[in-house]
Amino acid sequence: MLQQTRDHTLITATATLSSESHGGRAKCLQRLIRLDLPVPTTVALSFDAVHRIAQGAISDLGSLLAPFGAAPLLCVRPSSQDPDWGGPGAILNIGMSDETCAALIPVIGEVAAKALYLRFVQTYAIDVARLDPDMFDDLPEDLGAALERALAAYEDEAEEPFPQALEVQLSEVLQSMARAWEGTSARLLREAKGAPADAGLGLVVQRLALGLGRGESGSGVLQIVSSQTGMAQVTGRYLSQSQGREALEPGARALFLERDPRGPSLEEEVPEAFAALKAHAARMRERLREEMQVEFTLQDGQLHILDGVRVSRSSRAAVRIAVQLARDGIIPRDEALMRIEPKALTELLHQQLDPNAPLDVLARGVAASPGAATGRLVFSADAAQLAAARGEACVLVRRETGPEDVRGVHAASAVLTERGGMTSHAAVIGRGLGVPCVVGASEIRFELRMRRLVMPDGRVFSEGDTLTVDGTGGRVLAGSPALQEPALDDAFQELMSWADACRDIDVRANADTPQDAQTARNFGAQGIGLCRTEHMFFDAERLRAMREMIFANVAEDRRVALDLLLPMQRADFSALFDIMAGMPVCIRLFDPPLHEFLPTDRTGLRELAEALDLPMSDVTRRVEALAEYNPMLGMRGVRLGITVPEIYDMQARAIFEASVAASRKGEPVVPEIMIPLVSARREVELVKTRIDAVAAAVRNETGQDVAFRLGVMVETPRAALRAGDIANHADFLSFGTNDLTQMTYGLSRDDAGRFMSAYVSAGVFPEDPFHTLDTDGVGELLAIGAVRGRGARPGITLSICGEHGGNPESIAVCRDLGFDYVSCSSFRVPVARLAAARLAIAARDQTPGKP
Ligand code: PEP
Ligand code: MG
Repeated sequence: MLQQTRDHTLITATATLSSESHGGRAKCLQRLIRLDLPVPTTVALSFDAVHRIAQGAISDLGSLLAPFGAAPLLCVRPSSQDPDWGGPGAILNIGMSDETCAALIPVIGEVAAKALYLRFVQTYAIDVARLDPDMFDDLPEDLGAALERALAAYEDEAEEPFPQALEVQLSEVLQSMARAWEGTSARLLREAKGAPADAGLGLVVQRLALGLGRGESGSGVLQIVSSQTGMAQVTGRYLSQSQGREALEPGARALFLERDPRGPSLEEEVPEAFAALKAHAARMRERLREEMQVEFTLQDGQLHILDGVRVSRSSRAAVRIAVQLARDGIIPRDEALMRIEPKALTELLHQQLDPNAPLDVLARGVAASPGAATGRLVFSADAAQLAAARGEACVLVRRETGPEDVRGVHAASAVLTERGGMTSHAAVIGRGLGVPCVVGASEIRFELRMRRLVMPDGRVFSEGDTLTVDGTGGRVLAGSPALQEPALDDAFQELMSWADACRDIDVRANADTPQDAQTARNFGAQGIGLCRTEHMFFDAERLRAMREMIFANVAEDRRVALDLLLPMQRADFSALFDIMAGMPVCIRLFDPPLHEFLPTDRTGLRELAEALDLPMSDVTRRVEALAEYNPMLGMRGVRLGITVPEIYDMQARAIFEASVAASRKGEPVVPEIMIPLVSARREVELVKTRIDAVAAAVRNETGQDVAFRLGVMVETPRAALRAGDIANHADFLSFGTNDLTQMTYGLSRDDAGRFMSAYVSAGVFPEDPFHTLDTDGVGELLAIGAVRGRGARPGITLSICGEHGGNPESIAVCRDLGFDYVSCSSFRVPVARLAAARLAIAARDQTPGKP
């Protein structure tokens, strides 16, 4: 009997087989055989053998068939290296012919025998001989007549009789499956799932367990865990007198497996088989270290295990399954961590579309902030706030959002914009707040004056109509499809605690408001890495003071306006210090250009003129004077700090007064103050001198020590290049990779969304660099900045606080460069914690000499 030839391997406990040479299914079957499970005789064909078959070289069928004895019925299944890469469908009943049909009649009855033969003729004609499926459209009801007609139709179409010899059938089946794998569409499909271009296909030839017979016969699948929740639960179906996965077909009169109030079950009908199956599944879980779905057949009451496949699972189920396997001691905790893709966690943190819900997709855009939410359309931030006040969920629609929309974004359930990309305003704010957001949805016509959206298919949605925004998939959907709730359950929390125990880089959050800070803490952030203070100025009362400050002609007037803002800022910082309870809080001084705080339309200008008691012409002139051709490269960041220093003075005072008060109450608070958009050392010196003076003043006034750390945001290429110089005046450097990407590429973060997808599909950029850190270019600036910064000041703290901070790829770069922490939107903190843990585990596993 064959055991092993160059091409064929009889699967036994000791045969030489691997997933890399024979595919995952062949290897799994060997594992099942090692567990003494009742697996029918199976021969595996290697990737090389199948490749040769695709070229037309069918080898030695005699030796392949030897283990199966005389006149067997067989099935052939694909065995790709990774089961997710797919493969051609299984072909059952190979060997059915006039003769085997006649021989089967006394064993399983005429109806079953002829039904099997008919089924095989049809499958063979369509999937192997590639004949037109229509030829079987009008088969008569009577089975015998239908079989005759099908055989005749085959002969007509194929111009030869239906092959009767097993060898012919098998060799044709093998060739057709081998060639299907090598076809272009199959290759593209699997490449999309991550398979390499030259991925091989193995095949397994198995003795057919019939599933039809006079005693209890049938087929089904069983798993002992829920694919949706990951909780222990027997699920699956069994169908009497069936084969393959027929039990799962919609409308099949299948049995439940476990006793079930909804109908009869295998447990009641065939209790021994059910008990054996459950035991086999539990054994597979323990020994294969994975939750497996068991494909089984009963033939005259006898159980056969045909296959075991990894249970398909939602992200939340994946977390629970991995954690439970580790809790049960089946896998180590490190492995549980390595089994969960960090990005999958985002699905747990937000409401998501129910994967089984029918969807009416209207349009696509950039998936800018994950999660899904439904609401009525509103077209202004005010309308969003009104809707929220009425307790109504709304979707805020804007051409693009600006700082004046922040409160509207807060109030909305989701945001949809025509313009923008991954780091445009709506995207950053949406991610910070956990509000689902699709930006750059330019295939929709935004008729904002009419307050309506015209979808690519012509459907019109007006204010008040209901839409769903899927920020995870970048889709806009009609109506309110079913949603799944977030799953921050015990399994998630436990996985996170294991991650924290092994990671070696800290994770902080970008948080601007007390609400953000609370979310950051809930998600396990180790401090705030970026508080964008300008987000605190859009409240109506503050906006008025800001505008008075902007319009002040002399420093004294400016100071009066800023004095109004001081207590408010102090209260903001006090709230952050309280929530963060002694953890580091890094506050970035005011960054945006001042004209963002001024109205742009006539009504707004008139209101401003009234409020300031100035002629309209003065107001207009002033607003025009502040306009810039390229505001992102204009009067913003530290440039404002130097030209209008009173703003930073006020902020520094608010920070020191709040930290003194917080230190009096509890743990000493050492605030971190960060200067944005620096490009020259002198900028830091000038700002530092003034901040030191404010600290000294507060120290004198309060009699308390005023400790603080001063840092620089490295977000211009020059700051990265001159990091050595700058580091002499900074306790920390934090890389702002949003602006750094913008300036390194000369690519506007607000406009790039318009052509980014064209650029990515043309292969100009491998990914949107605002989303995935450009390790070659921007990454090199990070490396230069880190090396030069540390060179000048060895103990300097290094971090990243751009949106990339939450991406596993960027965390790898930062970790390799020896950064102290990454900072990202609160909702990405768990993703970053897990990604950091996996990097630490992978690095340890690669260390030579590791036990
Ligand atoms: C950055 O530029 O990376 C950054 C964090 O600052 P902002 O996004 O506020 O410009
Ligand atoms: Mg920036």
